[in-house]
Amino acid sequence: MIISNDEKLPIIKKKTDKLNPSITDFDKTFENNIRPKTFDSYIGQTNLKSMLKISIEAAKKRNVPLDHLLFYGPPGLGKTTLACVIANETSSEIKITSAPAIERPRDIIGILMSLKPGEVLFIDEIHRLNKVAEEILYPAMEDFFLDMNTGKGQSLKTLRVPIPKFTLIGATTKAGALSGPLRDRFGIVHRLEFYSKEELKQVIIRTAEILNISITDKGAEAVAMRSRGTPRIANRLVKRVSDYALVKSNGVVDEQIANKALDNLNIDKTGLDGTDRGLIKIIAEKYQGGPVGLETLAAALGEDSKTIEEVYEPYLLQEGYIQRTPRGRKITPYAVKMLNLNNSNVQQTLFE
Ligand code: ADP
Repeated sequence: MIISNDEKLPIIKKKTDKLNPSITDFDKTFENNIRPKTFDSYIGQTNLKSMLKISIEAAKKRNVPLDHLLFYGPPGLGKTTLACVIANETSSEIKITSAPAIERPRDIIGILMSLKPGEVLFIDEIHRLNKVAEEILYPAMEDFFLDMNTGKGQSLKTLRVPIPKFTLIGATTKAGALSGPLRDRFGIVHRLEFYSKEELKQVIIRTAEILNISITDKGAEAVAMRSRGTPRIANRLVKRVSDYALVKSNGVVDEQIANKALDNLNIDKTGLDGTDRGLIKIIAEKYQGGPVGLETLAAALGEDSKTIEEVYEPYLLQEGYIQRTPRGRKITPYAVKMLNLNNSNVQQTLFE
């Protein structure tokens, strides 16, 4: 696999905090070093991988590029990594970009015109693609043509310009925000799942080996427990825990050191961080357990509503701490128990 180093390719930078699995500049270098390159080293997502292997094999036999793919799910679950694995496994080059960086028609036209036959084009946050860029993409995805307008008024003509056959891989945290016509043009649409503790443990052991970090089996388990089902967080934590081990002990990450370091980072045994706990507590204490609307919640928490919806909520929903109802977010009896919330108002609304 060759990652294009075309400097003109627009690439977006995202802001982040310590547990937010969005990507930082530091992460980019760090992640490129530890990113799995093959299906064998890409841990978990078993169903998706076996389905992809069949699709790749079939495309090879038919001698056509792989169908366009859409991956969706919370940040840090391995969408970009999987796109790179696919490029590698199909011996293709890959261009990586992000929808907010494709502002003008000429951005998307430039990218499409520069593709090589069989190349993979990865567009992150594809739900944020603007309407004009989307419409340029439709014929490109369907028939590998660009419709270009020339002339003005009565002499306006549309030229169909052929482009090389390519595979578009879109990634999004919000599949529901994609327009119907764009979504329909993907041959394969798949959700990435949160990782089990066992899978995260494998991610951690693999990363520790690459970074020369000594970690015991129990140490890896302790980090996995608190990684919110997300490889990006697991990788970040293993590094932080290893720093702690180096400074406070003999450098070996065992269970005790891992737990101490993670306590120090304010991440509790279930993997919830300060923002997660704050979000649950605000619903419990300020809104009697909910329901409360997303915007109200965001204002009370001092967080961006998108970050709450796309980064924090998915894990809290999956683990059963909160529920989404038509009238807003509610906490669950499980959250009351786990966070030891003792408020009689809360209990009443929850069991209604
Ligand atoms: P996303 O694109 O979904 O935000 P990434 O693909 O950038 O997530 O993954 C974040 C990091 O997590 C990667 O650098 C990679 O090292 C690690 N990672 C993700 N998925 C896996 C996996 N299945 N196996 C091993 N490591 C993974």
